[in-house]
Amino acid sequence: MFENQFIKRNLHYYCIDSPRNRSLFWLRNFFAPIKEDKTLILLYHRVVDDNFQGGLERLFITKNNFEKQLDFLQENYPIISLEEYNHLKNNKKQVIITFDDGYRDLYTYALPALQQRNIPATVFITTSIIDNMGDYFWWDILELLIFNNERKEVMLEELGNYTLNSLEERRTVYDTVLKKYKKLESHEANKTIEKIFARYGKLKEEMKELYLNREDIHEMLKNKISFGSHTREHTILSGIDDEQAIAEIGGSKKELEKIVQKEVNLFSYPNGVRKDFLQRDVDIVKKSGYRYACSSLYGTNDSKTNPHILKRVQVSNHWSIDEFRSSVERAFLLS
Ligand SMILES: [Zn+2]
Repeated sequence: MFENQFIKRNLHYYCIDSPRNRSLFWLRNFFAPIKEDKTLILLYHRVVDDNFQGGLERLFITKNNFEKQLDFLQENYPIISLEEYNHLKNNKKQVIITFDDGYRDLYTYALPALQQRNIPATVFITTSIIDNMGDYFWWDILELLIFNNERKEVMLEELGNYTLNSLEERRTVYDTVLKKYKKLESHEANKTIEKIFARYGKLKEEMKELYLNREDIHEMLKNKISFGSHTREHTILSGIDDEQAIAEIGGSKKELEKIVQKEVNLFSYPNGVRKDFLQRDVDIVKKSGYRYACSSLYGTNDSKTNPHILKRVQVSNHWSIDEFRSSVERAFLLS
């Protein structure tokens, strides 16, 4: 009772519109830090069937988890497209959804979930995997071999031979093999993959539906999905020479423009942490005509953020919806 009266009295006091109160209000706002838009760009890779058994949980999210996250975001923040990203000073928090690499499950699972809620998103695609015409990501080759339940053993040439009797064992083998692969020189790594393809003749068939094709892309373009480049071959830019970097960054833009039939002005750096790209690459991105480029550096973005090194927060399938909520809130608070 007493508390209620106290609150009412205080409310009454602050509501009095006196010249003194108006100047107090002005002073308080003058000394408060200038607040402005903060944009949280979320980074996803794959959206998979709820029964999916795969390798790295930071690279996929189940459809069910994805839908719960979209519902939470939509209830709490405006969700805009990357093209709409700007630095208006109106103290808003907003969210952008992005996907790296260009897996086909984005068409199968992510698109319907986004469409249902009328949410825009951007897919950064590695152009050489479109239509499964050329390249395959090496981690997918190994993942498909190791997580296929029908295989009880696997022979991976220089990477070793392993038994695969349980999901636990498959996960351990996958971790071991990834570490071994990363230590190989690039010519050894290519040779190993060639030998694996020769041994497992049907593997390419198994990988047929793994990446987006042109029809998927055209269908997605009609439904608030935009496409940006993620280089030609997912090459780590810091490890290549100038000419190759120009081909990966500028060349992929032209290739993708032919497919989407319009200008491509969004880019994301493969892997995208500080060691993966140089200032030279940021300059090439700018010169090639990209308007925005996303890294994988952690944080939200405001007017001080370089538009060619936008920060993102990577979502993990490990997170419960409460952990997702606190990760989003923490990102807005800390960065
Ligand atoms: Zn990538």
